[in-house]
Amino acid sequence: MKDCIFCKILRKEIPSEFIYEDEHCFAINDINPKAKKHILVIPKEHIESLNEIKDFEIVKKLFEAISKINIKENISHFKTLINTGAKAGQEVMHLHIHVLSD
Ligand code: AMP
Ligand code: ZN
Repeated sequence: MKDCIFCKILRKEIPSEFIYEDEHCFAINDINPKAKKHILVIPKEHIESLNEIKDFEIVKKLFEAISKINIKENISHFKTLINTGAKAGQEVMHLHIHVLSD
């Protein structure tokens, strides 16, 4: 998607450090962290939100990625959050899972 921040990051049009990447997803540190560690786990495919998922295999891939990231980043306790829809606080309209750990 042309004007999507996360698609731009994936295309390297906006600089960001990838802390994880596989065939289906990637992860970056949130630019405005709300916890000591605040990671965003993002599908490479531009899916607007949880409401637009057609093939739920991607949900499995995202949580597999979270599991690998947590081992890599030594995260043992954490919260996940998926804002879905602007009224729920979703600012970036490209599905992402927040992983928050203090
Ligand atoms: P949400 O409100 O669930 O859509 O969350 C969007 C998140 O993306 C917010 O926590 C922002 O701080 C974060 N964010 C926005 N732009 C960037 C960026 N360029 N790099 C990293 N995180 C970003
Ligand atoms: Zn996108």
